[in-house]
Amino acid sequence: MPAEHTDLDWASVTQALLDLGIGKLYENADLRQCSRWRIGGRASLLVEPSSIDALASLKQFLCAKQIPHLVIGDGANLLFDDAGVEGVVIRLGKSLSGIRVDGDLLSVDAGVWVPRLAHASLLAGLTGLEHIVGIPGTVGGLVCMNGGSQRRGIGDNVVDVTAVDGNGDVIRLDASECGFAYRTSRFQSGLTVAACTLRLQPGDKKAIRREMLEILHSRRTRFPLKLPNCGSVFVSNPAMYDLVGPPGKAIELVGLKGVRRGGARVSPQHANFIVNEGNASSTDVLTLIADIRSEVHKQTGYWMESEVRYVAPNCSIFPAHCAKEMT
Ligand SMILES: Cc1cc2nc3c(=O)[nH]c(=O)nc-3n(C[C@H](O)[C@H](O)[C@H](O)COP(=O)(O)OP(=O)(O)OC[C@H]3O[C@@H](n4cnc5c(N)ncnc54)[C@H](O)[C@@H]3O)c2cc1C
Repeated sequence: MPAEHTDLDWASVTQALLDLGIGKLYENADLRQCSRWRIGGRASLLVEPSSIDALASLKQFLCAKQIPHLVIGDGANLLFDDAGVEGVVIRLGKSLSGIRVDGDLLSVDAGVWVPRLAHASLLAGLTGLEHIVGIPGTVGGLVCMNGGSQRRGIGDNVVDVTAVDGNGDVIRLDASECGFAYRTSRFQSGLTVAACTLRLQPGDKKAIRREMLEILHSRRTRFPLKLPNCGSVFVSNPAMYDLVGPPGKAIELVGLKGVRRGGARVSPQHANFIVNEGNASSTDVLTLIADIRSEVHKQTGYWMESEVRYVAPNCSIFPAHCAKEMT
């Protein structure tokens, strides 16, 4: 939700939320600790709601007071601005991390760590989530991004989602109402995922484990894991894929593998990853994204779109390649 206020009394907001017993609060929070890129300024307030009811009360309060806010999980797909965020960052994590198994259905809270969900499906002997093993982030973030690997998305398994809307009302959406498409969903525009039900298939535990180990091995060898990054920067474009290849191949072909802008660098290991070599700014990353896009377009005719999302200081969130036009 974008900013209406620029002169909020944050001490009063904090006190009101303490009185409501919403959960943990952190004033003037360092956003570098909330993003896997380790980039970003400070947030006026970071809140970790203790339950779905607390999340709903928090959104009701913020909506009534017109206080700008946004929801994050692990920040595995987010670029915060160096100027930080003037508003409330709602982080869903450990306090919303229940998993319940009922036959071939899994009920999962939004704060569950994705690799833990993959492990729970293995323990239950259920197949269908092997492709998410090793993806960093929370289930809320995964559902919002319709994340997955091997061209699959978690939306394929979603039966329904419990969400909190912009007014703080708790609603339930069937999968058909969630707007799942490749690496996107309806949850990118203000609805907060609080929990979801997933349907899997009974499977053979040994086969599930073998496939997960193979996927983990492949991820460890292909992806840069030592320097901070947010995974694949650009989303694959099917038309470009057929003629040129996936984004990493296209970036390599146009000669940008290893290229630097300030402290940000196109990973020499996998060209669709941008790594923070230590002191990268949000501007360094956005400049690199813009330069990659225009060079790939110049040489191939395709505009690539970014999967990673940029958080503007006024709390609006959009694909990082749009940042320059939107701010
Ligand atoms: C090394 C590495 C490898 C990766 N590999 C993959 C991969 O193979 N496949 C893949 O799909 N992704 C991959 N990613 C990207 C990332 O892991 C996923 O996008 C993940 O699902 C993001 O989850 P998160 O909790 O970190 O969300 P965040 O990064 O915190 O947020 C991402 C978006 O989701 C929104 N959001 C977060 N939580 C909620 C919620 N509860 N309700 C509504 N909206 C919410 C945010 O507002 C934001 O728009 C990778 C990232 C890294 C760092």
